[in-house]
Amino acid sequence: MRLPSSLVLATGNPGKVDELRALLADLPLTLRPASDLDAPPDVTEDADTLDGNTRKKARAFHEHTGLPTLADDTGLEVAALDGGPGVHTARFAGPDATPDDNKRRLLDVMEGVEDRRARFRTVAALVEDDGTTRTFEGICSGTITTEPQGDGGFGYDPLFLPDGRDQTFAEMPAAAKNEVSHRRKALDAVRQFLASGD
Ligand code: IMP
Repeated sequence: MRLPSSLVLATGNPGKVDELRALLADLPLTLRPASDLDAPPDVTEDADTLDGNTRKKARAFHEHTGLPTLADDTGLEVAALDGGPGVHTARFAGPDATPDDNKRRLLDVMEGVEDRRARFRTVAALVEDDGTTRTFEGICSGTITTEPQGDGGFGYDPLFLPDGRDQTFAEMPAAAKNEVSHRRKALDAVRQFLASGD
């Protein structure tokens, strides 16, 4: 795929949009997040995999705009929860859960659990002009803290300590998260694909 001049971001999550903007900042692309669109589609994320949800979001925004589109679906996979909440990460504490509800539930279910290994997994979907859709994965491994640490980032960031670091994603500067994050790795794969011109 040749580098498009503009790319729709199939998300209304401001935390994600900020990260995607930073991660793609060096490319000559006009990014168009959901907030820039007229009546963006409201996509129900009811697929049973991250791959299914990200494809669904990307295709819905592509159909709405007719433009190349990038979507990202991310799950937190906790070893002691057999890889959960995974595809249910956004609704871990229930259908209308807030980020605080979700973090509280995670701390509750992890209370007293010694094995705190976890990973974030992002699947990014890229839809080309003609509707061809490809997905790209990025994983960041770490551990779940025993209490929230830090005010930055979004979602579960205050509870996630990436391997080899002594600060949670919410304590480190945004640029430091973007050096090692699951989203960074998925976007590197997207970038490699765009650079290949295939
Ligand atoms: P979705 O990819 O927008 O469906 O997000 C799934 C869930 O993971 C939501 O609860 C998000 O807040 C959370 N989430 C997604 N990406 C991140 C991240 O980079 N850090 C922390 N939480 C995240």
